[in-house]
Amino acid sequence: FPTHIKLATKDKIDTVIVNGAECEPYITVDDRLMQESAEKVFRGLDIVRRVLGAERGFIACEINKPAALKRLREVAAGFPAISAQALDTRYPHGAEKHLIKAVLNREVPIRALPGSVGVIVNNVQTVCAIADAVDLGRVLHSRVITVSGHGITTPKNLRIPLGTSVSDAIAFCDGESVPEPAVIVGGPMTGMRVTDFTIPVGKSTSGIVLLTEEEYGGSLHMACIRCGKCVEVCPMYLPPNRITAYVNNDMIEEAVGAGLDACILCGACQFVCPSKRPLLEWINHGKAVSAAKRRR
Ligand code: SF4
Ligand code: SF4
Repeated sequence: FPTHIKLATKDKIDTVIVNGAECEPYITVDDRLMQESAEKVFRGLDIVRRVLGAERGFIACEINKPAALKRLREVAAGFPAISAQALDTRYPHGAEKHLIKAVLNREVPIRALPGSVGVIVNNVQTVCAIADAVDLGRVLHSRVITVSGHGITTPKNLRIPLGTSVSDAIAFCDGESVPEPAVIVGGPMTGMRVTDFTIPVGKSTSGIVLLTEEEYGGSLHMACIRCGKCVEVCPMYLPPNRITAYVNNDMIEEAVGAGLDACILCGACQFVCPSKRPLLEWINHGKAVSAAKRRR
């Protein structure tokens, strides 16, 4: 979501949250930035808070990042309006609406934006970029990404220029450690498998994860066996099996009725599905069709 649109909100904002939950497996970018650039994270958040006239700010960080939390608490002493907030380690705490519920106990309605409950959420790298732009006049031309997984030879966090190809990032980490790993751009829960490695790293690319074909679970999916596991894990209490059945039969209104719009695209349903059904891809498709219908 473009930052300049967030900051131009007409809603009355009282709280700004920096999302340091980073709950996707393998991705450690925000953890490292909160440890190594904590002052910049606070400074960027403070700028956003002042621009919006918000009284307070929080940097939300899961308790499985003790070094980052310790550093944030040290730096917080110099920023009286901002606190470091520890969160349980639970997927998908990094989802915006869950984060707001966890930090402030406020519920963002379906299809509404966080501004409707007086909150703006920014990512760790976004507030760092804002601090760089304001304090140093630096434009955003690079970002930090994690290159990790059992399929890469030397996992690393890299600061690389935007536009760097996936293949160059992999080569910089000494290449693949297994034959033909599955290459996921983004985290393993919500990212997309790619086969064209010339695609560039963009502003929203958090990582490149290389998994063995066994870890990835193969590219063939099987029929739904109605085990109900996807329903059990859904943090929004949705029936992903039913929603995707509707989507795949072009029954978008029925899919919306079953909760398509409430899905936060966390990927938990797909992760647990024993039939390896690409539920996230189907839900994404359903959301796109639903949005196109609303625009007509
Ligand atoms: S991706 Fe799946 S588990 Fe996550 S909110 Fe959507 S339907 Fe539920
Ligand atoms: S987890 Fe997979 S197999 Fe089980 S009900 Fe959901 S879609 Fe069907």
